[in-house]
Order: sequence, then structure tokens, then C-alpha cells
Amino acid sequence: METILLSQRVVNMAESATLKMTEKSRELKAQGIDIISLSIGEPDFNTPENAKQGGIAAINNNDTHYPPVPGTAALRKAIAEKLRRDNGLDYADTNIIVSNGAKQAITNTFLAILDKGDEVIIPAPFWVSYPEMVKLADGTPVFIKTTAEQHFKINAKQLEEAITPNTKAFIFSTPCNPSGSVYTKEELAALVEVFKKHPRVIIISDEIYEFIQYEHKHESMGQFTELKDRLVIVNGVAKGYAMTGWRIGYIAAPKAIVSACNKIQGQYTSGICTIAQAAALEAMKLSPENSEEVNNMIKAFRHRRDMFYELLTAIPGIKLNMPAGAFYMFPEVTYYYGKSDGENVIKNSDDLCMYLLYNAHVACVAGGPFGNDDCIRLSYATSEDKLIEAARRIKEALEKLK
Ligand code: GLU
Repeated sequence: METILLSQRVVNMAESATLKMTEKSRELKAQGIDIISLSIGEPDFNTPENAKQGGIAAINNNDTHYPPVPGTAALRKAIAEKLRRDNGLDYADTNIIVSNGAKQAITNTFLAILDKGDEVIIPAPFWVSYPEMVKLADGTPVFIKTTAEQHFKINAKQLEEAITPNTKAFIFSTPCNPSGSVYTKEELAALVEVFKKHPRVIIISDEIYEFIQYEHKHESMGQFTELKDRLVIVNGVAKGYAMTGWRIGYIAAPKAIVSACNKIQGQYTSGICTIAQAAALEAMKLSPENSEEVNNMIKAFRHRRDMFYELLTAIPGIKLNMPAGAFYMFPEVTYYYGKSDGENVIKNSDDLCMYLLYNAHVACVAGGPFGNDDCIRLSYATSEDKLIEAARRIKEALEKLK
């Protein structure tokens, strides 16, 4: 058979670093190796009971036919109500489209707004998939570098300097995956002042970790109503309700963007699984304010954060900010670059992660694909026992590097 020539689009695409590492640790586990996986960002809690019952009822009621492409009327209405309840935002259900996870929601958005040559500004570190999604839509990612000293958050001056006549959009996450940093209202307001000077820039605010923050209540970009006609809010049920496998994400956005995404989704995938939508509809009724299940999960994450932070910062050479949200630690690990286990020299974040995988049996994700090769990402969405053991193993393995 002739070699199949794949498209440049896919040849040039990087593999998802989070999913690649998760797959690798699954393979090693299947070989009987006791791997502690701190790679994928996924709550280890169960889906709330009412959401599970919602899904079961949908099956029993034969709610199993093609769904409307933008999401069921009931779910879109429930999302609009959630945005009102939790964020004080006023969106009609026609401003909302439900997709197969926040990932499809963001990809649809880029496909809807980007043409060749359009630039998308992405503060680094960023979630691994943003640049690849931009490139898939023929756009050009433009990165803004940040430092641990500035808690990996950009300021107005950096944003202003990054905007060019080709800037079409800006995307960021708060709380941030991977740094766990959270923008304050004042910090967001300073960025909004810059956006006001550049009315053609579309702002995509990924707020999927909204519930998972420890210092303050969530500050949504949506509160700056002067941006409403060009703001896309991204959210979903995966993180806040421990529903990663149900694949329900959504955007709240201007109608033109929603109908463009609807057109794209109508050709590519159609509407999202009716059973998952019914479960999400029930989940939407919960918030940290009214649900013990949601609240207990956040309390557990906070406890783990405090504990894991202590354990990691006790390891020589690890430099780490206390994250204010999400469930990731993003330590700087350059102290170990140039050191060797006697066979191989650790040159970058990928080498260090591979070293930890094979020597400590702990799976982390390299910082490089997140836009900062000085760091690695560790998810603490796992049990305290596993976190204690992971920190012990990491410390022991790192001590062997000379
Ligand atoms: N967003 C999660 C993470 O960063 C899930 C994995 C993914 O879809 O990339 O680990």
C-alpha cells in the first residue's frame, strides 16, 4: 500500500500533552506498574446524584432521539439561569450554544471567527489546546510571556503591546489552567480598558474552573458589560460538577457567533448526547452556595492544595506560587536542568516529566506545551494519600539527580 499523505493541518498539529501523558500512564498501569497519575485535570469525585438521576430518567423516558443542534431548550434556559444566579449576567437562551465539552465550544468559536492571518493573543502559560485550536482554524497564535513573580498573569501594558492590526481575538482562562492563578476584578478591569481602545478584538474568557477557587468568589469577564457585544464566555459541567465524561460545555456569546457555531456544529457533529444534556440540566441547579456535594468537593480541593503545596515546597529547588484556583500546581523546576541520573541529562520539562514517570512512577505534564518550559504541571485532583506518596516519590527521585 502507498504511504498515506496526511494533511499539513494534522501533520503540523501537536498531540495533546495532557492526554498523551494520561495515555502513557494508563499503559504503564496496565503493565502492573503502580503509577500515581497527576497528569489529567479531572476531579476524582462522583457526578452529583441528581445529575445521574437526570441521565437515567432520560434513558427511561426514551429521550434518545436527535437533539436540537444548539442544545435542548431546557438546558439552554438552565444555563441562562445559572449565569444569572452565579454571575449576575443577563443572557437569553439564544445567546447560548451547548457543545461536546468546552473543547468543542472553543474550537467552534475559532472556526467561526478566524480567517488566515488572523492573530489570537494567548497569555502564557496557557492550556495546551488553545494554540492548536487556533491553528486548526488557520489563525496565528501570539503569546504573551509572564513570570512566576507576576503570578503568571498579564498586565494592561503587555496586552497593549501584543495587539496589532491583525489581532482578531484574545483567549485566557481564569482561574488559569495550568498556573492556578486567578485574576482579580481590578486586574480584569485594567485589561478591559485596553480592549475598549481596540473594539474589533473578540475576547474569549474560559471560566471552566469558576467554582474551584479558594480566596475569592469568581469574577466573570461578563460583568464588564461594555464588552458584551464581543465577549465569549466558555464554561461547562466537567470541573465544577465532576462530570468530565459527560462532555457538556457551552459558550454564552453574541448571537452572530452562536449562530455561526450552530452552523458549524450542524455540519460536523449535530447536537450533543441527549442523556448527557439531561444530566447537565440537573447539575446546573447546583452551585457552591446551595449544594453540599459541590461545596464538599471544593473544600477537599482546598485542603489538598494546602497540604500538597507544603510538601512540594519542602523539596529542594522547587519554586512554587500558592495557586488561588483550579487544581494544579505549576512549579518552576529549572534547578534540576543540567543534572543527570548518571545516564541521561535533564534538559527540559519534558525530560524531567519522563524521568519522574519512569523513576518515581508519578505522571505529571511538562510545562513546555503549556508555554513555559521552566515548569511542570501537577494535578492535585486525587486523594490525599496519593498526594503524600507522590510528593515522597518525587522528592526521592529528584535527590538522585546530580
Ligand atoms: N483540561 C484538562 C487538563 O488540562 C483535561 C484534559 C484535556 O482535555 O486536555 O488536564
